Amino acid sequence: MAKLIDGKAVSAKVKAEVRAEADALKEKGIEIGLAVVIVGNNQASRVYVNNKKKACEEVGFTSFEYALPEETTEEELVDLVKKLNADDKVNGILVQLPLPKQINETAVINTIVPEKDVDAFHPENVGHIMIGDYSFLPCTPAGVMELIADTGIDPAGKNCVVIGRSNIVGKPMAMLLLHKNGTVTICHSKTADLKKKCAEADILVAAVGKAGFVTADMVKEGAVVIDVGMNRNAEGKLCGDVAFDECAEKAGFITPVPGGVGPMTIAMLMKNTLTAAKLANGIEV
Ligand code: NAP
Repeated sequence: MAKLIDGKAVSAKVKAEVRAEADALKEKGIEIGLAVVIVGNNQASRVYVNNKKKACEEVGFTSFEYALPEETTEEELVDLVKKLNADDKVNGILVQLPLPKQINETAVINTIVPEKDVDAFHPENVGHIMIGDYSFLPCTPAGVMELIADTGIDPAGKNCVVIGRSNIVGKPMAMLLLHKNGTVTICHSKTADLKKKCAEADILVAAVGKAGFVTADMVKEGAVVIDVGMNRNAEGKLCGDVAFDECAEKAGFITPVPGGVGPMTIAMLMKNTLTAAKLANGIEV
């Protein structure tokens, strides 16, 4: 039976470290601020934004919330981002995705100055991640790396399989595993023999967005199984991409949903905002 990887405990540790540094900076007169922008009435986005505000309170940051109506134009949103770019009280800018369809997400993300891009979605930061000389961590993949580190298993030389190739999860996830010397395979909807490839993984990361996608026959005995998925099942209950009960029988370590990757994403966002504040004040990171 797999050991549970406790995302709540690991995220609490990360946030406590951020809090300690934020308190020390406050004593030097440096206040840290995160601007969170939400557009429209997406219920899931509202929950994420509330969680981010709560995390800011926990680590001693000021959060500035901008809730804009569904009919906001791209120009209005871009103008707000430009204002936040120029605001010294704001160290990090987060625009909650998805945005209403009249707004081009890329145009908005590319407007955020890279120094305040705490989601690490700006092409300049993506390039840094690719090269491996990054200050900002891609939040969800970085959170996964912390969870893997918590198992004590070193990705070096291991078969690592990432299911999913999105720009925000799959691709940066593969990069971080590669930087840690894992032998990485990225699977997607066109992958042949996907089950076989997954069953060879020492570390399997699922970022598909389909409840119950990873079944026990895709899990190697003793593997580390990380479930990034956040889906609703037929009863409306939050669940991941991994059929938890059957996979937990075979895996060595497994993350639950909820309580696995989700809390880590927010903790790493706090860490990035701290990094942004340090860089803005000429402090080495
Ligand atoms: P996405 O952009 O929809 O990407 C999904 C990926 O899964 C795509 O690369 C897609 O392949 C692949 N895929 C879909 N069906 C497949 C199949 N049948 N076989 C193999 N691959 C398949 O989603 P995302 O933004 O990466 O998010 C993935 C999941 O993680 C979602 O449930 C999301 O809610 C969750 N998430 C969680 C957190 C967190 O903090 N826990 C953060 C971000 C995302 P193609 O590229 O070929 O289409």
